Amino acid sequence: MSERDVIIKGLMEGVDLLVAVAFVPTVAQEARERHALRPVSAALLGQAFAAAGVLTALQKGEGRVNLQLECDGVLRGLFVDAGGDGTMRGYVKNTLVEIELGEAFRWRGAFGNSGSLSVLRDIGHEYYRSSIDLQAFSLAGDLNRYFDLSDQVKTQVAIGVAGPPDEPLLKVAAVLVQALPTGDVKALEALGATLQGALDAALAHPAITGADALFERLFPGLKVTERTAAAFSCSCSKERMIEVLASLGKAQVQDIIDTAGSTSITCRFCATKHEISLVDLYALLERLNADALKN
Ligand SMILES: [Zn+2]
Repeated sequence: MSERDVIIKGLMEGVDLLVAVAFVPTVAQEARERHALRPVSAALLGQAFAAAGVLTALQKGEGRVNLQLECDGVLRGLFVDAGGDGTMRGYVKNTLVEIELGEAFRWRGAFGNSGSLSVLRDIGHEYYRSSIDLQAFSLAGDLNRYFDLSDQVKTQVAIGVAGPPDEPLLKVAAVLVQALPTGDVKALEALGATLQGALDAALAHPAITGADALFERLFPGLKVTERTAAAFSCSCSKERMIEVLASLGKAQVQDIIDTAGSTSITCRFCATKHEISLVDLYALLERLNADALKN
């Protein structure tokens, strides 16, 4: 686990507001390298990692959160899978986005004019999935709308990415404030109104280089209640990829043996290329034939 990337939780007593800060530049940089992402693709995926990081802070235990964006802009979509244990993986549909627009419309060209944002949360034994149509066309803006429309628990989120030209992903962070059932909604609204500005100002400050400094800057004196190291991590394996081939059926496996002799499957989440040899393919075919005889 990276020492640098951390998700921090705290509780504002008196007003009963839960706060979470995710600082995940290393995760975002690793995803950029793995998927060979151009700058805007990399920045938007970084934003999604930070957002998923603060969402996992709302989970009980190590339950996973999936954040999925579908859009008609050049980005086309992105998907991030994050666990309460700090593991994160994800991809963008178009790795090559590098448009630069004016500040106000920064991401609009990437998002396009229509799309949806979905959040899938593992809540114990079941999954809770909810989607909204994009309207803000920014990840933070539409995530705030998601909380208003779907979650119905008063929540405010801000997301920021900042860095010099030679490392635009030097700081990748998100902050979330959520009212507990007894929480002071007015206090949350007051905090929420300035949250994005406060995050942007903090990230622009040269002294803010890590999660702890960011947390202290945003919530001075607030006690940390939980701290989770975060890292890019994927659960894929050659065995799992062979199961993907198995699901295609015997004829397809035979066809690969006859035409190519071997194959490779690249994991969508982490871009690892898993080589499947002729020996692997014969073993798989033998197993599928044995299964066919049993049935
Ligand atoms: Zn993988």
